[in-house]
Amino acid sequence: MASVILVTGGTGLVGKAIEHVIENEPAGSRFGKKDDETWIFVSSSEADLRDPEQTRRLYEKYRPTHVIHLAALVGGLFHNMKYKLTFLRENILINDNILHTSYTQKTTKLISCLSTCVFPDKVEYPLDELKIHNGPPHESNFGYAHAKRLVDVQNHAYKEEFGCDFTSAIPTNVFGPHDNYDLEHSHVIPGLIHKCYLAKKNGTPFIVSGTGKPLRQFIYSRDLAKLFIWMLREYGDVEPIILSVGEDEEVSIQQVADAIVKAIGFKGNYTFDTSRADGQFRKPASNKKLLSLIGDFQFTPFEQALKESVDWLVENYDTART
Ligand code: NDP
Repeated sequence: MASVILVTGGTGLVGKAIEHVIENEPAGSRFGKKDDETWIFVSSSEADLRDPEQTRRLYEKYRPTHVIHLAALVGGLFHNMKYKLTFLRENILINDNILHTSYTQKTTKLISCLSTCVFPDKVEYPLDELKIHNGPPHESNFGYAHAKRLVDVQNHAYKEEFGCDFTSAIPTNVFGPHDNYDLEHSHVIPGLIHKCYLAKKNGTPFIVSGTGKPLRQFIYSRDLAKLFIWMLREYGDVEPIILSVGEDEEVSIQQVADAIVKAIGFKGNYTFDTSRADGQFRKPASNKKLLSLIGDFQFTPFEQALKESVDWLVENYDTART
């Protein structure tokens, strides 16, 4: 049966990656576009999803059979700390409108997007899918985290009361082309890429905040895109699933900085500003559930993915979110 797949947040980092994979993988292949599929990628300019009426009109226009729901108010640590109510309320509104409209418009399947920062602050590592609600999230982002956690609660309630096929994905830190490269409000990889790019261009020092020692799991947006496409076609459970590289693929911030220096061709020395906070040393998440279900899946080697992200910024500097 023909399917219409609506991707909310279709102009963001993850949405653009899904569009890239759908357009560039061989048609009909595991991650490529199928003949009977129509993919629609929307931004806030087409519908402000905080508004139920605009959300309803969007669904009436496209009549999606499937929805990948990525749209969210997303921000760096500073924004999350300063605007907790805004992050809580706007994400609750967006998510409630998408879930309820998917129900009323009889969408066959809905996949929403959580994040590993929704997990409890005090938790036993590695994180896994059963630990989401086991204690309060870190207070720095409790607005965003609680709004996202509620999606999982709603998914279960929609399934129990109405039999809806709603589920959610939990990505770790994402990076790739079309990222937000803003120097103040970006995540660690795009922020460092931009700083190093400017250091090379202007002959200024490249300074990395913190000691460089913390370890993180980073997933390339185009790998994550394939995992969303796999979920859409092959994953049928309401329970969330962590989408991540393995715990053995953690990289240190120093390794990130080294890879960026190499990809950009920065020749000077770089230094660490150890007066800046490091954050948690590590917060590993398990991808065991994913690997047990997906079978064979090749993640892009970190350095290659990073090089592709750097090359994208260099080629698109004038139009990128900087
Ligand atoms: P981006 O910030 O790159 O993109 C956000 C998208 O959401 C944009 O397309 C934006 O549209 C849209 N959007 C924001 N507000 C609204 C609104 N009110 N109405 C309609 N659309 C709106 O986000 P990412 O691609 O990085 O994130 C995608 C998902 O992945 C989010 O749910 C996020 O929480 C989650 N996630 C991201 C991680 C990361 O490291 N980036 C890590 C883990 C989870 P417009 O362009 O018009 O503003």
